[in-house]
Amino acid sequence: MAKILVVGGSLGGLFVANILLRQGHDVTLLEKATGSLDGRGAGIVTHDALAQALRAAGVIVDHTLGVPVTQRVTLGSDGQSLGEIELPQILTSWSRLYHMLKEAFPVGRYLQGKAVKAVSQDTLSVQVRCEDGSEYSGDLLIASDGIRSGVRAQVAPQIQPEYAGYIAWRGVCDEACLSQYTLDTLFDYFGFCLPNGEQMLGYPVAGSGNDTRPGKRRYNFVWYRPASENEELVSLLTDDDGHYYPIGIPPLKVSWKHIAHMRTVAREILAPQYAEILEKTAAPFLQAIYDVRSEQIVFGRIALMGDAAFVGRPHVGMGVTKAGDEAMVIAKHINNLGATPDALQAYSDERLKLGQQVVARAQYLGRYMQAQGSKGSRDAENLKRNAGTVMAETAIDISDLLAQGRAVPESAH
Ligand SMILES: Cc1cc2nc3c(=O)[nH]c(=O)nc-3n(C[C@H](O)[C@H](O)[C@H](O)COP(=O)(O)OP(=O)(O)OC[C@H]3O[C@@H](n4cnc5c(N)ncnc54)[C@H](O)[C@@H]3O)c2cc1C
Repeated sequence: MAKILVVGGSLGGLFVANILLRQGHDVTLLEKATGSLDGRGAGIVTHDALAQALRAAGVIVDHTLGVPVTQRVTLGSDGQSLGEIELPQILTSWSRLYHMLKEAFPVGRYLQGKAVKAVSQDTLSVQVRCEDGSEYSGDLLIASDGIRSGVRAQVAPQIQPEYAGYIAWRGVCDEACLSQYTLDTLFDYFGFCLPNGEQMLGYPVAGSGNDTRPGKRRYNFVWYRPASENEELVSLLTDDDGHYYPIGIPPLKVSWKHIAHMRTVAREILAPQYAEILEKTAAPFLQAIYDVRSEQIVFGRIALMGDAAFVGRPHVGMGVTKAGDEAMVIAKHINNLGATPDALQAYSDERLKLGQQVVARAQYLGRYMQAQGSKGSRDAENLKRNAGTVMAETAIDISDLLAQGRAVPESAH
């Protein structure tokens, strides 16, 4: 039995901590935040690999995981369908996954208010010091402390998030608020709307208390919009009292002026179904979109995983599945090689290139959206072709493509 430290108690950290605990290791998880992390996420597209990782983490996966959809649709600005494709998927929510994984992990091993400040290692162990002065040591440290990873900042400060040039408005709207027209033409679909240079997508998720009954669900949306880094982004990340949040504005602090403007634009350029959803969403929030591409993810007894290792733009719909995959691979190699630097190196050998491919695919999907702006896609035929490609490529299971090294189509190189 090895002593393993996990930094970060969100989905990635909970995956690896649960799986390693079930392999018999002495796992301690250090999480900076105090209280529940709930409320910070919205919808999550599931893939087969996500269900496998959940099972490995000790979670029972059944029909309560999420809301099934069978079809995708793209709506034009007049609300009419521009095309549909069949693509069955289960859509869940960040909060559902967090609760399932958190309940599977012993409370006494999930230490909160533990902001890791310094990490060091020698030939036998790794040590961490937290801001509150407490210290921990172990055989290995797995860092799943997110896009702004403090562990990564110490072992590989050159790896930095890079702004993609656009933001995403996000939120969930109660099904019960919506008109019959929107329920009939959009609600049961994984839906898209493609104004020039922008992309709106959405899908149904469980409602309050994980209720998946018709009438009780919610519609989750993500609306990608360009925003210049130095002016528009700074303004969007500034609250009504003039406070600027450079690394992400808390959802409830988003300025009402930006929300009002966003809704006005929605009425002008989006399908009326989406405009209605945005009007009726109580607290839309926004997130700047970044890429993180690591050249190295293992440093002796320290490994990076989840968003600390790679962040692919959300078009790829892989963040949580990737974290689950990485957790399973780390655990497999520790099982085979013991809690050693060799086990972590084997994890890197298996996952480094895959992580880089996920980032490349996500950039390809984003570039495609950005290019639409300059390609005159208001032409009806062009728009239909774009709609077909976007529906077929966004947030799909790419495990086969990754295995074949074909995450980005040849034609896009
Ligand atoms: C708009 C949008 C849509 C998305 N859609 C999808 C989707 O459809 N499907 C999907 O799979 N993924 C999606 N994702 C991505 C997904 O949310 C993440 O990739 C996933 O949660 C893995 O993150 P993580 O656990 O590695 O890091 P995080 O969730 O960022 O957690 C990091 C944790 O580390 C803690 N921490 C930070 N610093 C320290 C420290 N110094 N000491 C201790 N603790 C610390 C933080 O408090 C936090 O709890 C989406 C993301 C966005 C922005």
